Amino acid sequence: PLVLGIETSCDETGIGIVRGRTLLSNTIASSMDEHARFGGVVPEVAARAHLEALQPSIEAALRESGVSLAEIDAVAVTSGPGLAGALMVGVGAAKALAVSLGRPLYAVNHLVGHIAADILDSEALPLEYPTVALLVSGGHTSLLLVRDLTTDVELLGETMDDAAGEAFDKVARLLGLPYPGGPHIDRAAASGSAEAIRFPRGLSRASDLAEHRYDFSFSGLKTAVARWVEQSEAAGEAVPVADVAASFREAVVDVLVTKALAACADYAVPRLLLGGGVIANKRLRDVAIERADAAGVTVRIPPLSLCTDNGAMIAALASELIMAGRPPSTLGFGADSTLPVTEIQVAESEEAA
Ligand code: ATP
Ligand code: FE
Ligand code: MG
Repeated sequence: PLVLGIETSCDETGIGIVRGRTLLSNTIASSMDEHARFGGVVPEVAARAHLEALQPSIEAALRESGVSLAEIDAVAVTSGPGLAGALMVGVGAAKALAVSLGRPLYAVNHLVGHIAADILDSEALPLEYPTVALLVSGGHTSLLLVRDLTTDVELLGETMDDAAGEAFDKVARLLGLPYPGGPHIDRAAASGSAEAIRFPRGLSRASDLAEHRYDFSFSGLKTAVARWVEQSEAAGEAVPVADVAASFREAVVDVLVTKALAACADYAVPRLLLGGGVIANKRLRDVAIERADAAGVTVRIPPLSLCTDNGAMIAALASELIMAGRPPSTLGFGADSTLPVTEIQVAESEEAA
């Protein structure tokens, strides 16, 4: 099926067009620059930016893919989770588009979309089930057991406090680096040593593992970095930004990969799929591949351009649902800012597609 996907859960207006599992176009307009000076996304600013960007983005995506609106078989949209106002703009636009074209509408989960991005990897083999999935983004850090992307996503564990991306953003701020923190920490870490400082690995003690084997915690790590920065300042020393960045990054990467591979071992699943904006981190990808290799686990990583928020992953998930014969959503759904990852599609209708 030819599917147009609309993503507006945060600060990226993403329009993607896919045919089956083939990516045709992926247009992303970001309001990031408007938020940078506030050190985080301002919901009202993001919603208004989506409103302005949607129409030109849809036109650009159609132009890029060489298809016309009339050829689209289905419309897909992120229903949640995300910022309520931002989501609402996308949901409204998707309903209007589906109704005016007379095409089915699929309202899907943003987080499952991050995982569905893997399907669009043209070099990779078809996704095999079950697979463990590590989802690391700005708002979420979750370990999932995916038995089928269209029917069965189980939450094994998640962060008890900050998301990994959020930790990158907060630590960047502590180090005086701009928002968003991930890429800036990466750059600073390049000239630092990962072994310079031993930062804590959250929920990794034997006593934590009994109850929180697949859960994460990054707030203690953030506090440890803050204390380190304070102490060097109090001692009148320059903060060794490169070493702190590299050691912090290592602590995050270590705990993410360790827990993901523990899940693979426990469930005897030799497959690990990575998804979410933090996967853009090269060190994370390198360590995951190296340690998975040693453990006999195959790693799947979506193309980098599909790791951060985009419409193609939303279209890809809807395309999977359609190919699995799932009915479209009814128009009764709205934005759900706290939609759980186990709800792959919302407002499924009674009738088959
Ligand atoms: P969610 O998907 O949970 O709703 P989100 O959509 O805001 O959250 P993404 O867009 O998937 O999250 O990812 C953004 C996050 O990825 C930010 O926190 C950013 O700092 C982080 N990030 C981006 N590049 C890198 C990098 N190279 N290293 C580490 N983190 C990164
Ligand atoms: Fe996201
Ligand atoms: Mg984003």
